[in-house]
Amino acid sequence: MKLLEGKTAIITGASRGIGKGIAEKFIDHGATVIFTYASSEDKARTLETELASRRGKAKGYKSDAADFNAAQALIDQVIMDFGTIDILVNNAGITRDNLLMRMSEEQWDEIMRVNLKSVFNLTKAIIKPMLKARTGSIINMSSVVGVKGNAGQANYAASKAGIIGFTKSIAAELGSRNIRCNAIAPGFIETEMTGVLDEKIVQSWRDAIPLKRGGTPDDVANASLFLASDLSTYITGQTINVCGGMLM
Ligand code: NAP
Repeated sequence: MKLLEGKTAIITGASRGIGKGIAEKFIDHGATVIFTYASSEDKARTLETELASRRGKAKGYKSDAADFNAAQALIDQVIMDFGTIDILVNNAGITRDNLLMRMSEEQWDEIMRVNLKSVFNLTKAIIKPMLKARTGSIINMSSVVGVKGNAGQANYAASKAGIIGFTKSIAAELGSRNIRCNAIAPGFIETEMTGVLDEKIVQSWRDAIPLKRGGTPDDVANASLFLASDLSTYITGQTINVCGGMLM
């Protein structure tokens, strides 16, 4: 059964990792998929071709999610190209890890811009068309680190906790208009973002997870599919932990 037939979705930061997994899942479920990326031109074109080969309609746009005006211009362009947007997945995110003692102002500001302000930018740009359509599902990619904190990631944890507060507020503001807003808090998901880490450390993390493995982009994509689809029409303002039991 295809769960997103006739729906149009926009996913930020989908040239690789979790965003790419969500794009693939959504197209397999019948959605038209619009995705963005910051600089990975080749990967974006390859994904466009791959998504099209799955008999879907897909288009990638280079757009800096941290830039307010660029986000507005992107949504205007997508509405011109595709007519409506039913689903927004605010997935773009980066890490700039450091202990607070060594964390620079730039490392703090960059994380806030790319991880948190981007969510404001895209949501702000999309609410007008969603209000007009009187329907919408917004999914924000938080992290277990935003729920429980993590040494060496004060900037990242603050941005991801901020996303949860933002999500609950938007759910309260827009629920009466049939626009839902939920967050996903992935645990340790094995992607390029985590591929740079030391294998021994990574194995110790896997061992500490109740399900004894790192998650995959597909695990997060399945939760995203649920929140994007009509299976979750009575769910808003929630954070779903996709973490193999790391958070209980
Ligand atoms: P990733 O593999 O590093 O991919 C990040 C994606 O975001 C890329 O497509 C990148 O585009 C894009 N991006 C970065 N800055 C951007 C910007 N300013 N504007 C638009 N796009 C931008 O990351 P990931 O592991 O898939 O993580 C995806 C999301 O899940 C992030 O929000 C992350 O914080 C969250 N998360 C990840 C994990 C994990 O274990 N992996 C756990 C919890 C939460 P380019 O390729 O063009 O740079």
